[in-house]
This record gives sequence, structure tokens and C-alpha cells, in this order.
Amino acid sequence: MKDRVALLKCEEYDPIAIEKKIREGFELLGGESYIRRLISPDSKVLLKPNLLSVEDKYSPVVTNYLFFEGVIRVLKDYSDKIVFGDSPGFGSAERAAQKAGLLDVANKYGVKFDDFTDKVNMTLKDSLLVKNWEVAKVAVESDVLISLPKLKTHGMMYFTGAVKNQFGCVPGTQKALWHTRMNNSNNFARMLLDLNKVVETKFAIMDGIVAMEGNGPKSGTAKKMNAVIMGESITAVDSIALRLIGYDDPREIPQYKIAFETDWGKVLPEDIEVAGMSVDDLKVSDFKKIRSTNEIFGDSRGMAFIKSLIAPYPKLIHEKCISCERCAQVCPEKPKVITMTDKGGKLVPVFDRKTCIRCFCCQELCPVGALEIGETFLGKILY
Ligand code: SF4
Ligand code: SF4
Repeated sequence: MKDRVALLKCEEYDPIAIEKKIREGFELLGGESYIRRLISPDSKVLLKPNLLSVEDKYSPVVTNYLFFEGVIRVLKDYSDKIVFGDSPGFGSAERAAQKAGLLDVANKYGVKFDDFTDKVNMTLKDSLLVKNWEVAKVAVESDVLISLPKLKTHGMMYFTGAVKNQFGCVPGTQKALWHTRMNNSNNFARMLLDLNKVVETKFAIMDGIVAMEGNGPKSGTAKKMNAVIMGESITAVDSIALRLIGYDDPREIPQYKIAFETDWGKVLPEDIEVAGMSVDDLKVSDFKKIRSTNEIFGDSRGMAFIKSLIAPYPKLIHEKCISCERCAQVCPEKPKVITMTDKGGKLVPVFDRKTCIRCFCCQELCPVGALEIGETFLGKILY
């Protein structure tokens, strides 16, 4: 049986218009009985937006606050126990929620905030890779976790959507350690899929009205897509998003390749029924994707030298760097790959490309976009 996903066109961040679209989406998926099955009476609902870092209201890095409002306006009809939260890789979750405008929206509708600092240990029996977990307690204790991802590129995983969004359920700085434990993007993908089983992600509503292309997930550029994508299958929701931005086969991206191979979730176009708009209606032809060159090196650190010659790497834009040292602090590798060094009278990061695992945590969390994904000369020729 095919998984059903609703694809809606929405051209503006107007909470009333977004509310209308989301109601339309639920109608396409099965109407009132469908929502009642998803959110049974007295259910505690956790909304998990993308609050990667402390960003302004209209930043394409985070789930838009007016999109968040549109979602709440629908869901408040079905639950009066709605909580939202996230845990950025760096900095305060509450500050991120406040600066992006989500906290004010939540207060307006009586939605509580949780900063994911209360943790709980979990075991996942039938895992693809990771059995033992420490995750945000509220994510496990809620009855219905609804993911509200932003459609974005991602340095390491190429794309971040409904599957990757729940990485925020891993508390704070522990996220960087997972990059070291999962030594390549295929293992990272297995870990992400396992994590979604642990927190039991039940539904996703993706903010693809304005997406992010290029140097994502934090320093890319806004790209108008006019899309809202929703469904119970998070791999199917992401698959549709990937087709909108130009991946005809979502298996180019590790999460969906692994999901397909392990029968974790539906990924291929022929296994997904799209209700509402057609993919062709909202597809863009010029989306700046991240080239998936990491995979060739896959599972071996023994190929470090070759990898350093070919694989994309964190590249410093010297003039943008403010010498904050955050990149050196968040780099999970030991000994550190980054050494802060005086160059032209300014302290900037210098990278050891041989030991860098290309997790792009530094690029993801640089507060001023001074790191981008560089391509080597050889890498450009080969790909
Ligand atoms: S590259 Fe970014 S994170 Fe690193 S020191 Fe410069 S500004 Fe800070
Ligand atoms: S330098 Fe950046 S990409 Fe390399 S291991 Fe450290 S955080 Fe990851």
C-alpha cells in the first residue's frame, strides 16, 4: 500500500492562510476521523519545530513563527495539552524560541515550552544501529510527536527535513558526540532512523514556504518554494521535498537509501501517493543542492588521505570570521581538528583536513556564516 502525503501551495507566511492549508491537508489525508485517530482525546501533543540556533523571526534557518501559529490554530481544536520544544546544538533553547518568535505565539495560545533538558534513558530493541539512548523526556512522554521541520540543505547529510529534525531530541552538546560515534553519513542516517523510532515521530508538517538552499543548514540562502508538505510517513514527506528540489531518486541521500534498503519507510515516488498539488506544480529547477560526494569514502577512516584530497571540507571565509572560537568548541573530534591561529592579525580556525571527519558541526554552528562547504580541485573534477 502507498503512503499518502498532502502537498499544498502556500505563498505567504499568514497564519490564517497557513491554518486553512493545513486543514485542507488533513482533509485530503482523511478528514476529521483521520485527525481524531492521530490525536485521540486527552492526548499530549509535542510540536518539534527546527530551532537550530538563535535566529531572527524571518530567518530561513528555523521553522517560521507564523507557520507555527497556523499549525497551532488547527491542533488546538484537538488537544489542549500542546507543548513545543527543541534543543539547539549550541546556546539556549528558550532564547532561540524567543528570538524566532515561537515563544510569543505559544504564549498567545497557551502552548507550553520545554527546553529538552530533562532527559530519559531508552533502549530500542530492534534498532538498525543504536540501541541505547538518552533523549528529551518530553519527547518520549508525549502521546503524539508532530515534527515541524524546515526544508533545508545540510552540509553533512545533504538535506534536513522530517527525519533529521528529531535530532534536536538529543539533548544539547551530546549531538556533537554522535558525529564522532557515527563515523560516516550512512551510520549517521541509521542513527537518525533509530532515533525516530525511540521518540515515535507520528506526523510531520514541513515548512517549505521559504526553504534554504546552498550553505545550509545555517548559512545558506532563502529560497521561495511555496510548499507545505504533511503526512504520517516522515520518509515519504521528505521524499516529496527532495523531489521538489531536484532529487529524482531520494536514495541519493543516505537517510532515504537506508530507509529503503531496510524497509524502514516509503521513499520511492511509486510508493507514495501525493494528494493536493502535484510535485511538478511546485518543483524548482534551480535549487542549490549540496553535492553528495562524501559517500565514496563511506565506512573507512583509513582512507583519510584520499578523502582529504577529494571530499568537501569546511572552508573559512576569512573576512567574515569574528574569532569567536565556537567552531573549535563544537568540533567533536579528539584531538581537535581545529586550531585557532593568528593569520594577518586575526585569530581564525585552521583545519587539519586529514583528521577532519566532515561532520560539518563547525559550519552548522558558526554564528556568522564564516564557514562554507568547500570543494577540492580534485573533487570538482571527479564529480
Ligand atoms: S569560523 Fe565562525 S565559529 Fe569559527 S571562529 Fe570564525 S566566526 Fe567563530
Ligand atoms: S573541523 Fe568541522 S567538519 Fe571537521 S570534524 Fe571538526 S566540526 Fe567536523
